[in-house]
Amino acid sequence: MSDLTTYAARWIFPVDAPPIERGTITVRDDTIVAVATHGTRTPDVELGNVAILPGFVNAHTHLDLSGAKACQAPLADARGSLEFTHWLRNVIAFRHSRTPTQVQADIALGLAECLRFGTTLIGDISAGGASWDLLTRAYCRAVVFHEVLGLSEERAAQSWQGAQAWAKQNAPLDGYVPAYSPHAPYSVRRTLYAALSSQTPPIATHLAETQAELQLLRAHEGPFVDFLKELNVWNPAGLIRDPLDVIRQLPRGIFVHGNYLDAATPFAPEQTLVVCPRTHHAFGHPRHPFPRMKVRVALGTDSLASNPDLDILAEARFLRQQYPEVEPAMLLRMLTLNGAEALGFGAVTGSLTAGKSADLVVLPLPNAESSEPHDLLFVSALAVGGVMFRGRWIVAPTPELL
Ligand SMILES: [Zn+2]
Repeated sequence: MSDLTTYAARWIFPVDAPPIERGTITVRDDTIVAVATHGTRTPDVELGNVAILPGFVNAHTHLDLSGAKACQAPLADARGSLEFTHWLRNVIAFRHSRTPTQVQADIALGLAECLRFGTTLIGDISAGGASWDLLTRAYCRAVVFHEVLGLSEERAAQSWQGAQAWAKQNAPLDGYVPAYSPHAPYSVRRTLYAALSSQTPPIATHLAETQAELQLLRAHEGPFVDFLKELNVWNPAGLIRDPLDVIRQLPRGIFVHGNYLDAATPFAPEQTLVVCPRTHHAFGHPRHPFPRMKVRVALGTDSLASNPDLDILAEARFLRQQYPEVEPAMLLRMLTLNGAEALGFGAVTGSLTAGKSADLVVLPLPNAESSEPHDLLFVSALAVGGVMFRGRWIVAPTPELL
């Protein structure tokens, strides 16, 4: 008896190869053994009018803020956008209000939401590394980035010591990687960025998220000055001078947001920019320069403190509407393989390739034709109908699909 299962679908999207109409994918145990054109293999399971895609990658979230939705509400300015330092004050107050038990419940809530939306690899920024235990037991792969921050010498050293002690206690496991995230240039001493430059990647940092951040770094002026003084951490001597210094120091870095980077910013081939489209929109930033930038781009939801949900496919659909100049095949790559490569899992997952892990999403398609098959994915509101992780259905395809 064969231990292979072959699934057929209206469209298969390998990502590292063109889409295959009425193709098949064959899985043995936890591994993809073949992706084939119509007629090559006899399917065991005919899934019908669906797409089979690689499991999605959410390259940037903060699961420990999954209870922080209220941070969004009262902050809208006259344009209906969130004002950044006010929002940060609310996030800090939220963190102080949470007990360790509540933090774990928040992480569990966010994780369940990620998995339901087809995420099989998560890059999670975690205060104190608190999501490690839950994520290493979850049906997905993860990089847990222990957050580090501190502008003064003393705070930076303390934070760095704490993060290193955590990393010592938590060795990498199969599919799970402990890592570091220097929070942002307005909260991380320049010497701390320098210390991180010699660490094993991946390393993720928020960068050039607001105009106010650039104003702070370049002129030591603007709303961040009051904000940092209020927190009693104002230390202009600790600030880096320019976001480009951060990019130079992390040759395989993951740079999150980059909303105010110049489109001509030079990046190295192993660096990644993560954009968080609906969070970008919530803060009312001008159009993001990423379509013109020469860098690998991946997608993140950011947290529920600034985003409506943790649906990473919704981020790609939002971009399809807002940035029609971006090829939809590129959007699919941003949703899958680019994030996997950024997080160090590009050889294992992120595309439907023989030998890679059987991490799949089954997405029902509209009853429509399209000359561009990717638009069946993105010009649609249909929800994920099945998720397979390491060859096992985590969200079983709905009965009408089987
Ligand atoms: Zn973030």
